[in-house]
Amino acid sequence: MKNESMSIEFFGAVGEVTGSCFLLTCGGRRVLVECGMIQGSQKHERHNRDPFPFDPASLDAMILTHAHLDHSGRIPLLVKQGFNGRIHTHAATVDLCEIMLADAGYLNEKDVQWENKRRAQQGREPIAPLYTRKEALDSIEAFTAHEYGVTTEICPGVTFTLHDAGHILGSAIVELTLTDGSVRKRVVFSGDLGNPGAPILRDPQPPGAADLVVMESTYGDRVHRPWEATWAEMGEIFANASSGKGNILIPAFTIGRTQLLLYTFREYFDEWRLGDWSIVLDTPMGIAATEVYARYSRLYDANARQIHAKDGDPFDLPNLYASRTSAESMKLNERRSGLILIAGSGMCTGGRIKHHLQHNVSRPQTNVMIVGFQARGTLGRELVDGARSIRLWGEDVEVNAAVHTIGGLSAHADQADLSRWFAAIPGSPVCVLVHGEPSATQSLAERIVADGAKSVRQPSFRERIDLTRL
Ligand SMILES: [Zn+2]
Ligand SMILES: [Zn+2]
Repeated sequence: MKNESMSIEFFGAVGEVTGSCFLLTCGGRRVLVECGMIQGSQKHERHNRDPFPFDPASLDAMILTHAHLDHSGRIPLLVKQGFNGRIHTHAATVDLCEIMLADAGYLNEKDVQWENKRRAQQGREPIAPLYTRKEALDSIEAFTAHEYGVTTEICPGVTFTLHDAGHILGSAIVELTLTDGSVRKRVVFSGDLGNPGAPILRDPQPPGAADLVVMESTYGDRVHRPWEATWAEMGEIFANASSGKGNILIPAFTIGRTQLLLYTFREYFDEWRLGDWSIVLDTPMGIAATEVYARYSRLYDANARQIHAKDGDPFDLPNLYASRTSAESMKLNERRSGLILIAGSGMCTGGRIKHHLQHNVSRPQTNVMIVGFQARGTLGRELVDGARSIRLWGEDVEVNAAVHTIGGLSAHADQADLSRWFAAIPGSPVCVLVHGEPSATQSLAERIVADGAKSVRQPSFRERIDLTRL
């Protein structure tokens, strides 16, 4: 292997969305950017157990763009396997990671309990969890909190600045300057870029000049519908639903989507006649994440700041109830009408929403509102695709509820936004596309070239780009 003095290697999120992991080398220093979990089918997720393609103990530092698990999910494993540097990220990301990683650790332990029961029956050796809840919480000790717009040296020759990415609370674009002798290069990581015009957070900021930009391409082949059309679509569902007859079920991701719903409910409270309902946040993780969002009013956009200055917490509603314990959640199953239930998991693959579906989905008075992306093979996707019956705990349950799919609530920039964000970066940088399905990435590559980019690359797994040759 050549020993290059300044390079970037791609160890994840190439040709796929999840598992972000990039290694920067600069004059003998090694900085990891992202340490994400691979997510998808069970078979694919087994790769999370693969050894890292580098020695964690050899790294000097790590930078994290935001709290989503496809960027942060393997951090506890990295720390467990000998990483002893600092993990630099935004202060809000530290708080959200504490919630996300602890939950991931807990789920790891539960998964392994199941797996080991099976293995015991087959006379096979038990396996250890990827990491435990405790190991996840221990890894939080390695985090160092930063603010947007402050430049910090993390090791000799490497400085970085975070800029608001507008994707979830604390999400950041990372701008790095690498210096080795007389060579100086500027590298930007987009992280996940938010959808401009989305409520609560500011729009993605343009970074300073760059030589190379590593950019996400999740929705590189799509154009989102305008926000106004989405609000109108939601309003119609509430106008047609009757609080006296049935419940409204909303499967939601706990970070970002849940807060967006509460914030929007507040905005349209009278217009959508939400006062006729009891709104229940039936997710302990969602409650905890909403508390973090409420603490960081300094990160809100102008509209959210105004609400905060006038009325305080923009996620609070007069008829909002937090359901923390499973006993509280089970009690909700007795209620036949009048509830708007926000519960995880976002794709109905687990969690409390499955119980609510079991009790409500066979009744025609029920409305199910799908507000997030549903991956192939998930229960949520079956509902979106119009399944007439679904299987819950080994039993077939008829679907008579009205299922509505709200497509416009994306937390990611679309093709036009991505291309516009890149075009605004001075220095005519090389564009490196990651974090997308191949068709989305290819489509974005073509658009960016058409919009004037000098060079667009789609790296393969373990590819190394020599930054000195740019
Ligand atoms: Zn994300
Ligand atoms: Zn992501």
